[in-house]
Amino acid sequence: MDKKKVVVTGGTGYIASWIVRDLLKEGHEVRTTVRKLKDKEKYLHLLNLEKKYEGILKIYEADLIKAGSFNLAIEGADYVIHTASPFSVDSHLNPEKDLLEPAVQGTINVLEGVNQSKTVKRVVLTSSLAAIYGDNRDMRDFGIEAFDESMWNTTSSLKNNPYSYSKTMAEKKAWEIADQQERWDLVTIHPGFVFGPSLSKRVDATSIDTLRRLLSGAFRTGAPHLEYIFSDIRDIATGHIRAAFTEEAKGRYIIANENGSFLTMAKIIKQYYGNQYKLPRRKVPKLIVWAIAPMLGLSRQYIKNNVGYKLKADNSRSIKELKMSYRSLETTLIDHIEQLKKDELL
Ligand code: NAP
Repeated sequence: MDKKKVVVTGGTGYIASWIVRDLLKEGHEVRTTVRKLKDKEKYLHLLNLEKKYEGILKIYEADLIKAGSFNLAIEGADYVIHTASPFSVDSHLNPEKDLLEPAVQGTINVLEGVNQSKTVKRVVLTSSLAAIYGDNRDMRDFGIEAFDESMWNTTSSLKNNPYSYSKTMAEKKAWEIADQQERWDLVTIHPGFVFGPSLSKRVDATSIDTLRRLLSGAFRTGAPHLEYIFSDIRDIATGHIRAAFTEEAKGRYIIANENGSFLTMAKIIKQYYGNQYKLPRRKVPKLIVWAIAPMLGLSRQYIKNNVGYKLKADNSRSIKELKMSYRSLETTLIDHIEQLKKDELL
C-alpha cells in the first residue's frame, strides 16, 4: 500500500495512541496533536514511538477550543482521524463548558483545517455508540433487537447523559460541515465501552480508570445490572485505519462486539485470577440503586432508564465492509489486566 500522510488528533489519548502506533507500523507518515507540547509526561509513549520510527512521526500542539489550532498539522495531509474529545462521565463537570463546547467546537476547528488544506480526501471521526442511543431502555422503547448505524441518540441532553449529548452534537456538526463540500468525505466510527491494553502508563482515561476501580474494590459490595456494549482497543484502532483506507467505506460504522455488565466482566476476570481482585460479589437490585443514586453521583432518572435493560449492537456493516473480526471480551480484559500488571499499575 502507498505510504500516506495521516493526522491523528489527541495523540496523548488511550485510543489515539493505538491508531498512531498501527499507522507507523504500516509505514505511514503520522502527524499527531497534543494539547500542550510542554506536558511531556502525557505523551512519553509518543516520544518512544518517535525514536523507534525515526522521521515519520511528528508531534504538533493543538487545542480543541482554539480556532486555527489544527491547521498546521493538517496542511498537506491525505487523511485526518479526529479522536480528540473529552471522555468523562464525572458528574462534577460543567456539561456545557467541559464536554459540549470542546467536542463541538473542536470538531468545527478540525474540519475548518481540513477545508483549508486542499489535500485531505477523507476524515474519520471517532464518534461513539453514545451518538446512536441515549439510555439503555431506548432499545426496548423503539421495539428493536439491536442498535444499528441508522439510529441517532434522541434522548440525551445537557442534563441527561451530557457526555452522550456532546458526542451526538459533535457528530451532527461534522456531517453538516461535510455535506457543505465535495472534496473530502466523512466516515464515523462508533465504539462501545473500550477496554484492552494501553500503550501509555496514564491511568486517567475513563476506560482505564473504570477497570482499575472494578479490580480494586470500588464495587465490592455489589454492582447493578447496567449493561454496556464492549470494544477492544486494538479492534478500534483497526476500524479507524480501515475506515480511512478502504475507498468504498462510507457513513457510520459500529465497531463493538459483546454486551454485558460489570458483573459479566467480574465473572470473566474471576475465572482467570480467582480471588486476586476485589470484584463485585453480587447484583444490587434496581430499587436499592435507585434509592442511593444521589449518593453515587447519579440521577434517579438515569437509574430508571438504564438499569436492568439489555443492550445489543449490530456490527455486521463493519464485518462486511471493513472486514472486521472481533476479539472476545475475555481476551480484551485479560490482555488489559496483564498490561496493568506489567506496568505496575495495579
Ligand atoms: P482519552 O484517553 O481521555 O483521550 C481524550 C483525548 O482528547 C486526549 O488526547 C485529550 O488530551 C484530548 N482532549 C480533550 N480535551 C482537549 C482539548 N481541549 N484540546 C485538545 N485535546 C483535548 O479518551 P479515549 O478513550 O482515548 O477517547 C478518545 C475518543 O474516543 C473520544 O472522542 C471519545 O469520546 C471516544 N470514545 C471513547 C470510548 C471509550 O470507551 N474509551 C468509547 C466511545 C468513544 P489530554 O491528554 O491533554 O487530556
